[in-house]
Amino acid sequence: MVGVIGYPVKHSLSPQMHNAAFDALGLNWRYVPLSVRPDRLPEAIRGLAAAGFRGVNLTVPHKVDVLPLLDSITDVARLIDAANTVSFDADTDAIHGTNTDLDGFMRDLDANGVPITHESKVILLGAGGAARAISVGLLQAGAEVVIVNRSVDRAAELVTLLQHNLHSAKVQAVSFEQLARTSEGAALIVNATPLGMWPNVEASAWSEDVPFPAGAVVYDTVYRPAQTKLLRDAESAGLRTIGGIGMLVQQGAAAFELWTKHGAPVEVMMAACLKALKE
Ligand code: NAP
Repeated sequence: MVGVIGYPVKHSLSPQMHNAAFDALGLNWRYVPLSVRPDRLPEAIRGLAAAGFRGVNLTVPHKVDVLPLLDSITDVARLIDAANTVSFDADTDAIHGTNTDLDGFMRDLDANGVPITHESKVILLGAGGAARAISVGLLQAGAEVVIVNRSVDRAAELVTLLQHNLHSAKVQAVSFEQLARTSEGAALIVNATPLGMWPNVEASAWSEDVPFPAGAVVYDTVYRPAQTKLLRDAESAGLRTIGGIGMLVQQGAAAFELWTKHGAPVEVMMAACLKALKE
């Protein structure tokens, strides 16, 4: 048994995605959604370990609060200061945490043939948990990252943390008002805010008054709807766009491999997510 702990958790696509993967590989595993109130997270984690679960994913609001409950965390989870994947070691009773959002995003860029090099300039919209994982992945790959956030203080805090932990990180924080001035020459724009997510589908993190940088790829981590306003606007401006479903699938694939030690059937997982989204 594995599952996802959230509050709420009923809209999660992960049960369909993982169960389809288990079926495709003939594995006798099941993945269940578990709604856990924030104040009951410690009991839930210990209870699932005691009941023989192999692991869980964590989603809002538990990704940070789970950290003190873990016996060990990977360097990636420490850098991001959040864990979205936990595994329970049946032999030692130890509870390990990691973060597969970074891997999920970078694997999806790779799957879409978007190269990140020392020459890549990236505009990252948002400074929350997803942005934190994405910024670490991009900076480790050598990119220059401009973080644009509603509260500039939060973006500045993230920049300080990144510069402290990743030596020679090329990263700066700017406000949305400075976007037009700083976005020139960007090869990639990433939305890591919930703007545009169902039901507020007419919202976009990119103001219509700001021209898109020529030739940029626009990546929206939002996947519900598949085609957000940001992606529609970018396509109208002639830019290549990528929605967030691939990141969801790839972060799930990384967790699947960690738990089962089997290669993840990524195409099966993608098909299950697309089917669940249509339903
Ligand atoms: P989070 O930690 O709550 O951070 C939210 C970020 O969005 C913050 O930077 C916040 O700015 C900004 N924001 C929120 N509402 C805004 C508004 N009305 N106007 C401007 N900025 C606003 O959330 P998260 O965990 O990073 O997740 C963010 C989004 O990423 C999710 O909604 C989800 O769609 C997406 N995501 C996708 C995947 C995937 O696998 N595809 C994985 C993780 C997340 P302030 O700091 O100013 O509040």
